[in-house]
Amino acid sequence: MTLEVSYKAELVGVFGHPVAENPTIVMQEAAFLELGLPWRYLTIEVLPADLGTAMAGLRAFNMRGINLTIPHKVAVLQYLDDVAPDAQLMGAVNTVRLEGGRLIGENTDGKGFLRSLIEDGKCDPAGKRVMLLGAGGAARAITVELALAGVTDLLVTNRSAERGQILVDLLNNKTPVKATFHHWQGPFAVPEGIDILVNATSIGLYPEVNARPDLDYDSISAGMIVCDVIPNPPQTPFLREAAGRGATVLDGLGMLVYQGAIGIKMWTGQDAPVEVMHQALAQAFNL
Ligand code: NDP
Repeated sequence: MTLEVSYKAELVGVFGHPVAENPTIVMQEAAFLELGLPWRYLTIEVLPADLGTAMAGLRAFNMRGINLTIPHKVAVLQYLDDVAPDAQLMGAVNTVRLEGGRLIGENTDGKGFLRSLIEDGKCDPAGKRVMLLGAGGAARAITVELALAGVTDLLVTNRSAERGQILVDLLNNKTPVKATFHHWQGPFAVPEGIDILVNATSIGLYPEVNARPDLDYDSISAGMIVCDVIPNPPQTPFLREAAGRGATVLDGLGMLVYQGAIGIKMWTGQDAPVEVMHQALAQAFNL
């Protein structure tokens, strides 16, 4: 009689460059341990010129999926068999799953933001007016998901006018939202009637922990929900200013955990233990 033993792990991970400081492994491995799944999450350095070979390797190793981070989120599209409609709109994929030999691309960044807004912020974005700082990858993912979730007005502000206008044109042409652009050239007031304010720039990210977006912070009011994408440190000067004016604040650590949890659900079919993942990251960030 033979014992049923398997030493084989199911493999997922992240391709990036540089990738050594990407903390996703911490929360995903904590989740697999908590769920009792024999899965491993690998942090893999992949140079831009090697992405095609790396995607072929993913198939060869029968990996269950992969996350993509800088600089691969757009370039990976050419290697996929199918891309989810929202990720197609964003033009970027951060999560791939291998299903029946097909590579399917998704984007969980905006979905993670949305889940944090709904579950932690207790806010249904439908019918709301949103102002967003930034027009990069995170801003793109967040605005597309907000538009698809029924936000009526989106005011995008960005330092580079060209990048900002491209995002606003995309939103107006491809989603039902009414988007407008404000060129960010100095401190400005948040207009009256804004319900949700989001910092989707990299201002405040470790080690620049004292940096904050150039805003008239007195224009933030107590009824607003103010969100930051910066996961480390989660308590940014931007959020501290907003909390000081009585606004409800949501940090980027929540978004990071939820986007990873959505990835786990896509890969394993199981609900991820978000509390355990949050704690694992907080410990890794010495919070
Ligand atoms: P990008 O490089 O694509 O975009 C960066 C954005 O920040 C651009 O809009 C850029 O403006 C703006 N920006 C940077 N520095 C300044 C500055 N000094 N003044 C004004 N604007 C500035 O990066 P991503 O969108 O991919 O990432 C942005 C942040 O989001 C990162 O900190 C990342 O860690 C975080 N993130 C968090 C996630 C989470 O789950 N919590 C998920 C994904 C990202 P311009 O166009 O003018 O250069």
